[in-house]
Amino acid sequence: MPDAARKHSRPVKAGVITIGGGAPVSVQSMCTTATRDVETTLAQIWELSCAGCELVRLAVPDQESISALKDIVAKSPLPVVADIHFDCRLAIAAIRAGVHKIRINPGNMKDPQGLRQIAREAKERGIPIRVGVNAGSLDRKQMDLSGGVTAEMLARYALDACRQLEALDFYDIVLSAKASSPLLMIETYRLLSKKSPYPLHLGVTEAGTPAQGVIRSAVGIGTLLAEGIGDTIRVSLTADPVEEVHAAYSILATLSLRQRGAVLISCPTCGRTEVPLMEIAEKVERRLRSIDLPLRVAVMGCVVNGPGEAREADVGIAGGRDSFVLFRKGEIVRKVGAEQAFEVLMAEIDRLLEENKSGD
Ligand code: SF4
Repeated sequence: MPDAARKHSRPVKAGVITIGGGAPVSVQSMCTTATRDVETTLAQIWELSCAGCELVRLAVPDQESISALKDIVAKSPLPVVADIHFDCRLAIAAIRAGVHKIRINPGNMKDPQGLRQIAREAKERGIPIRVGVNAGSLDRKQMDLSGGVTAEMLARYALDACRQLEALDFYDIVLSAKASSPLLMIETYRLLSKKSPYPLHLGVTEAGTPAQGVIRSAVGIGTLLAEGIGDTIRVSLTADPVEEVHAAYSILATLSLRQRGAVLISCPTCGRTEVPLMEIAEKVERRLRSIDLPLRVAVMGCVVNGPGEAREADVGIAGGRDSFVLFRKGEIVRKVGAEQAFEVLMAEIDRLLEENKSGD
């Protein structure tokens, strides 16, 4: 999608990352480690960073986490976002610990003086606040009266939460209003994009395990991004958070918004396939994860669509009878036996990477 088609929101900065204002859609994730465990948390942040994560969020449920936060922020390769609920004192302490952004839900912080101080200290340090509301945090009574959560209700709740900060003269806001239903979150964010100037953090919350969660997130987040809505994304999965980052880049690459690393084009196989394509495609996909260069790699089953896709790719293989033809940049390189195809393809990719490094 051309960048100009994206809605330009009011930009904010979280460390080195700009969110909104037409900046590339950034990728976030959240550590699953206990924040008080500095070493394990930093190890996970490094893994996320290597996978391409650009902002990392940490749960800050108690004072012990605050003590660890200072150390983590000092050593983290990524800007750190502190996730705080209910307790204004923890938010203030996290800001003082040097985090690059905080995420709160003003609706569940019942101390007006505390909220005033959060806004003042965040402003003094130049850090943004994500107003993060969830369908699950809406008032029960209100929901019962309306027969459940509606997009209008969730959007109103999110905008009211922003107004609480605006009343304190604070505007460096990122806004999120997540729901576990992709349809509900799509409608809610559509409303917010019309009514709010703030950058939008997109996500389908409690999306589930990767098998289900990736699809739900791709539908929810992808639909909005395709409409030019959204400035930063988090795919929430019940899995290693590195999987969230891979899924987020797959969504962005599918919409031609950003590409990090290699993209695999592979056919579903059918009765014409005479090579072990599924096995090879899975192995190739695993290996491509460690490649940063934006490559297009094709692994195709037969002569029907194989040569066409393989020619279009930077490197590709198209199957025949127990063999493959190797393509590189649209040209046939050679024919290889099915058993050697994986190694030969990876060697060709390695050569391409080497040449790219040396500037050939
Ligand atoms: S490329 Fe060939 S093997 Fe693959 S799905 Fe198409 S027809 Fe079947």
